[in-house]
Amino acid sequence: MADCIFCKIVRGEISSRKVHEDEHVFAFHDIRPLAPVHILIVPKAHVASLYDCDQSHEAALGRMLAVAGRLAREQGATDGFRTIINTGRVGRQEVYHVHVHIIGGPDVLPGMIVRK
Ligand code: 5GP
Ligand code: ZN
Repeated sequence: MADCIFCKIVRGEISSRKVHEDEHVFAFHDIRPLAPVHILIVPKAHVASLYDCDQSHEAALGRMLAVAGRLAREQGATDGFRTIINTGRVGRQEVYHVHVHIIGGPDVLPGMIVRK
């Protein structure tokens, strides 16, 4: 996808602080971290959101989670972390290229969704 920010990061056209790359996925530090550890893992092949994924994306989606724990630990999240995939308007997705957030650090994170 020519105009997709994360495709440009994967291609190296926008710089990022890369932490991992393999044949399926690319991982880098979020530009506006919410915690001391905040990285994003994306499939190298563009797919807009989880709504658009099907069995053809299994390898990349599986790899995103398969590397998450190691990358989190390597970045210093050694006592737990949170994985988030925002999807669509309700999920408040901002960048329409599937990504999993890996968020952690020394402190316990806030509750996931505030109860009304
Ligand atoms: P979303 O709300 O779509 O789940 O999250 C998008 C994330 O992408 C945000 O946390 C935002 O800070 C991050 N982001 C947006 N543009 C860039 C960029 O150009 N570089 C990096 N490293 N992160 C970005
Ligand atoms: Zn893309």
